[in-house]
Amino acid sequence: MIALTSTKSNGKKYKKTCLKKSKCTKCQQKCLKKCLKKCKKKSLKDYTKVTIEVPQPKGVKNLPATMYFYIHKSFTDKQQGRITTAISALLDQWYDHFNEKWDGGTNAGTSQLALCTNPYATKKLKPVWSKSSVSNGIAATNLAMNQFTQLIRDNGFKKSPPATIDPRSSTTVYAPTAPTKRRVPLSLQINPKQLDNPALTSLKLTGSVLHSWLHRAGWTDPKITSYFISECPMCVMRGLKPKNSRVRDSDFYKFFD
Ligand SMILES: [Zn+2]
Repeated sequence: MIALTSTKSNGKKYKKTCLKKSKCTKCQQKCLKKCLKKCKKKSLKDYTKVTIEVPQPKGVKNLPATMYFYIHKSFTDKQQGRITTAISALLDQWYDHFNEKWDGGTNAGTSQLALCTNPYATKKLKPVWSKSSVSNGIAATNLAMNQFTQLIRDNGFKKSPPATIDPRSSTTVYAPTAPTKRRVPLSLQINPKQLDNPALTSLKLTGSVLHSWLHRAGWTDPKITSYFISECPMCVMRGLKPKNSRVRDSDFYKFFD
């Protein structure tokens, strides 16, 4: 953040911006007299800070002990519990991936997640920041889990902005695709109504959060059959089992955004 050396002149500048566009261009909030104050720092007073333990897989060094999430206070305790459980379950998936890849020290193993994803994920295997091509679903899964390591480090070592979890009124879980690899906050928007919906099981919620994290890791939609950003989380939602012809993919990807 750039330090404001001359508050007075900056204040005038922002006030002008506010008057002109009726919205502050810095914080996108409604123009108030205190616009500048609000712009200086996103207030975290409306959030509950939640600390989540980072499991330590073999073969991955320099990991933080914990991650930090700021969950909006409008979520109920139960909803907050569901969110933190889903993030922990996602970290367990990431942990299992690296342990299985470690394979007793060769680091040449293939994880269950990669094996599950590989036959189904054939499209958009490459994240937006990657210059080289990605050969298959195994390579894409490895790349995604490596990028998760980066996101976890940046969060836990506080290199990225705080990861906020805000409520939204539509869909289930949303996060925009991040264009870069470093210092990307794991901020999400989650629909509280869906958290109260029994159709959204724990596995499905974990898959939905995984879909959003893949956006933060650089992968793009469409969120349909054959696309990596859809098939990889659908594997988690199926408990890493093969597809069952009696269950439609749309029953899973309807929880993606
Ligand atoms: Zn999506």
